[in-house]
Amino acid sequence: MRILLVEDDEMIGESVMAGLEGEDNAVDWVRDGNSALLALNTHTYSIMILDLGLPGKDGLQVLRQMRARRDPTPVLVTTARDTVNDRIMGLDSGADDYLIKPYDLDELSARIRALVRRAAGRADPVIVRGDLRISPATREVVYRGVPVILSSKEYALLAALAERQGVVWSRAQLEEKLYNWDNGVGSNAIEVHIHHLRKKLSDSAIKTVRGVGYLLET
Ligand code: CA
Repeated sequence: MRILLVEDDEMIGESVMAGLEGEDNAVDWVRDGNSALLALNTHTYSIMILDLGLPGKDGLQVLRQMRARRDPTPVLVTTARDTVNDRIMGLDSGADDYLIKPYDLDELSARIRALVRRAAGRADPVIVRGDLRISPATREVVYRGVPVILSSKEYALLAALAERQGVVWSRAQLEEKLYNWDNGVGSNAIEVHIHHLRKKLSDSAIKTVRGVGYLLET
């Protein structure tokens, strides 16, 4: 999934970025509030991880502004300000969850999965689409009862296709999910990954909707 990380601490930012990218996510990292609002305006993110103490516009202002313009992106607030009042203010300003620094990367990942699952309206942690089962916690994929080994990008692509039932995804939307703004996208990268996925699953697993995009067969 595509994640927006808003963090002005270089050391925390680097370790979170490395941890999340190691789990097949595409992460855009910004270091201040205005850049966060700009990124939210230009891209669609599965979730934003928002530090509250930021130079210039702070995290609470970012939250209030994005919610005021009805941006529904799930927000996980991270902060060193551990007072009940700060937590209440954050949640009341539109945060979906809270993590106190220093936090554990595995816990961060688990909370991200829970928030994204909730945003997609799913209660079950395993995504089931027809013959396909995806476990986001372990990134295990089973097709027609058989485990399938996927590359990092193949997994990210399949997870994106499975995110919402019956949705046709355009190539541009899929690129947006798979690549952050530092990694250039090859012109036919999505087609190549789709080709590999069909080989590993089956030709009928992913449908091409001519002129529109791709649809996961269910
Ligand atoms: Ca900070």
